[in-house]
Amino acid sequence: MLPRVVTWSPSVTLVPTQGCFNACDYCSFRRPLGQEPPLELSEARAQLRQRPEATEVLLLSGEVHPASAEREAWFARLCALGVEALRQGRLPHTNAGPLSLREMARLARLNPSLGLMFEGVGPAYDRQHRQAPSKRLAVRLEQLQQAGRLGIPFTTGLLLGLGESWEARRQALTFLAELQGRWGHLQEVILQPWRPDGCEAVPISGPEQAELLEVIALARQMLPAEVHLQTPPNLWPLEALPEAIAAGIDDLGGIDCTDVINPAYPQPTPLALQALLERHDLQLQPRPCVHRRWWGGLPRHLRLAVEAVDQQLQLRWAVSGC
Ligand code: SF4
Repeated sequence: MLPRVVTWSPSVTLVPTQGCFNACDYCSFRRPLGQEPPLELSEARAQLRQRPEATEVLLLSGEVHPASAEREAWFARLCALGVEALRQGRLPHTNAGPLSLREMARLARLNPSLGLMFEGVGPAYDRQHRQAPSKRLAVRLEQLQQAGRLGIPFTTGLLLGLGESWEARRQALTFLAELQGRWGHLQEVILQPWRPDGCEAVPISGPEQAELLEVIALARQMLPAEVHLQTPPNLWPLEALPEAIAAGIDDLGGIDCTDVINPAYPQPTPLALQALLERHDLQLQPRPCVHRRWWGGLPRHLRLAVEAVDQQLQLRWAVSGC
C-alpha cells in the first residue's frame, strides 16, 4: 500500500496592516486603526527576499471598514502586493476579511485561492465578536456564498476551543457541507485549535486533544471527501500529529518560519515534519496554495502560474527535500 500523502505549502506571510476596525475578544494581532504605517512595497520586497523558497504569499490583513475613506487605498495595496507576488513567480493567497463583490472578483484575477475563516456559530462566538461587526454569521455566510457564485477556490475554517457546544460544531459543519454541496468551491477547512497568546506556548492538554480529535473525525464524516482538512502543525503537539492525520487531517497548510497570529507557537521545519511522518508511513508533499482539483477552473494566467510553481516545488522537494 502506498503511504498516505499529507500536503503543505511553503509560505511567507505579508501583513498589509494590523489595523482593524473589528475588536475580537481573543485577538492579539489587531492594532487600532491609523497607529502604524501600512506595509510599503519596498518593505514587502525585502521580506520576500528573506524567504526565497516560499511559493505562497499569504496576505493576511486587518480589516478596514467598507465605508472608510481608507478602504480604497487599503484594497489597492492588497492588489499591488498580489501583483508583486505573481511578478516574482509566487502565488498570492489573500485573507483580508469580507469583500464586496467587485473587490472579490478583482482579487480572484490575482489570487489562485482566497480565504476567510468561518470560525463557528452560537453564543460562544457571539460573545467573542460583540465588537466585530464583520464576524456576524450572516456576513460570513454571505461571503462564502459569494465566493461560491464566483467559482473561487476557497479556504475557510473553524476556530475551536472557545467554549462552543457540540451542537454548534455540528451546525457549523452542516453550513459548510451545504455550501460545498451547492458550489463545490471549498478546497480546505482549517480546524484550528484556539490557543492563548503570551510569551510562551500553552500546549494542548490530553483532554483537549482527545476532544479535538473527535471534532476532526466529525468533520471528515460530515464534509465531502474532496474538502481537505487542515490543522496548523505548530498548534498541535508534534508527536501527536499522526493521530490527527488518522482522524482525518490531510493538509498542514501554509508553513512560514513564524506564525504571525500565534508567534509563541514555533513552526516545525518541513524536514522535521517529513521525518516524523515517514516514521508513521505517511508522505509529506509540497503543494501550491490551491489544490489540484481546482486548477481547471482558474483563469488561464493563474493556472499557468500555478503549474509552474507546482513543477518547481516537486523538483525541489525531490532533489533536496525542502
Ligand atoms: S477581524 Fe481579525 S484582525 Fe480584526 S480583531 Fe478580529 S481576529 Fe483580529
